[in-house]
Amino acid sequence: MQLYNAFLACQGISTDTRQITPGCLFVALRGDTFNGNEFALKALADGARYALIDDPAVAEQAPAADRDRCLLVPDALAAMQDLARHHRRQFTFPVVGLTGSNGKTTTKELIAAVLAKKYRVEATAGNLNNHIGVPLTLLRIDPNTTEIAVIEMGANHQQEIAMLSRICEPTHGLITNIGKAHLEGFGGVAGVRKGKGELFDYLAETDGTVFVNQQDATLRDMVAERQLREVVPYWTDGQYAIEQEAPVVIFEDATTDFAAKPRVVTHLPGLYNFANMAAALAIGAYFEVPQTEALQAVADYNPTNNRSQLLTKGTNTIWLDAYNANPSSMAAAVQQFGQQPATRKAVILGDMYELGDESEAEHAALGELVAAQHFDLVILAGHDMKYALSALPKAYYFPDKFSLHNWIADNPMHDTHILIKGSRGMKLETVVPFI
Ligand code: ATP
Ligand code: MG
Repeated sequence: MQLYNAFLACQGISTDTRQITPGCLFVALRGDTFNGNEFALKALADGARYALIDDPAVAEQAPAADRDRCLLVPDALAAMQDLARHHRRQFTFPVVGLTGSNGKTTTKELIAAVLAKKYRVEATAGNLNNHIGVPLTLLRIDPNTTEIAVIEMGANHQQEIAMLSRICEPTHGLITNIGKAHLEGFGGVAGVRKGKGELFDYLAETDGTVFVNQQDATLRDMVAERQLREVVPYWTDGQYAIEQEAPVVIFEDATTDFAAKPRVVTHLPGLYNFANMAAALAIGAYFEVPQTEALQAVADYNPTNNRSQLLTKGTNTIWLDAYNANPSSMAAAVQQFGQQPATRKAVILGDMYELGDESEAEHAALGELVAAQHFDLVILAGHDMKYALSALPKAYYFPDKFSLHNWIADNPMHDTHILIKGSRGMKLETVVPFI
């Protein structure tokens, strides 16, 4: 494959001319508002070794010396995906693929941290989990220095996970959960189950291995519905004991015989993170990472990405969970926070996006859920949060986050535990400086 030889001659890959590194392969992608072909010659001038393009005019305009460095294909994105698949086929080590509605990135990072105690691990950087991010992730992996890869796969439509699976060809797979995320694109929860299930379909076809959380009946059913060669159950009944010592969760492996059972004190608030930690420990155990080291990796993991961050501001303790929100992650966070033993509690909740026709009903249901807890202060922000108000007559409501900022600045809080959560587009982390 000529294109693959060109790729091998490059150092790294980039789709952004602002991030050209010497000798890289530049891939000209097209979006709604940009066409990477327009930047291809600049990328070459800035030091890219080759530019993968799909506009013949660019090759024609190139100075004679650069013409051979323009690799013209019918579709640059498809060519990058083919390249990634071909590159993936050079790997002989395990590739763990994971998808699910919530907790993919957190789980991916925990798995990578645990496996790194024993192996040289490559994992998806940040959240590069779609039809562009997955191939880029694969193409950044050096097969000579890697012993295991962990790939996050995201989707908001049917057939996307199937397509990503055919690119990254996972040998092992995990679905974190099936929840109410991207309902619009998937067509309801049944659609989410089918769409995420494409990972299990792929592993059934290819004799792969599936890790399955035994506490999750939907996932258990999805495994039972398929002919899988190897199923590794985890978090079986009684395996872990969990204690909540606000603001941390402590859990221990109750199945071990040690006189002092191994305990993990984690920086991750929220019991839903327990499922993420259990997944990482299960995969670590499967790949024979020593248990004490795996537990240490989980204990040391500290999120810095607006997901489940614990902050202190004056006398207040903040659970900053502003990275994203959908009905299931919102419900998990609100209920969890509701159980926290704190004297004074406030919630600042922002709109949940991408709910389509369900949005009004889901925001109203959230209002009921919040009303059932004992929060001293409820603050709602965003257009659709007004639907939560009918259940929460005492809540403060702000249609946008700027009016919210002003109000928070004028009404300082003290000695309060504060949960902040909303969809990414709400950028609720911007509230923190005003607290
Ligand atoms: P994305 O779809 O954006 O890639 P993701 O699935 O990678 O999201 P994370 O980024 O790990 O998910 O977590 C996002 C938020 O989801 C967290 O801040 C937390 O509120 C919530 N969350 C994390 N894990 C779980 C879980 N197991 N169940 C429910 N909610 C969770
Ligand atoms: Mg993610």
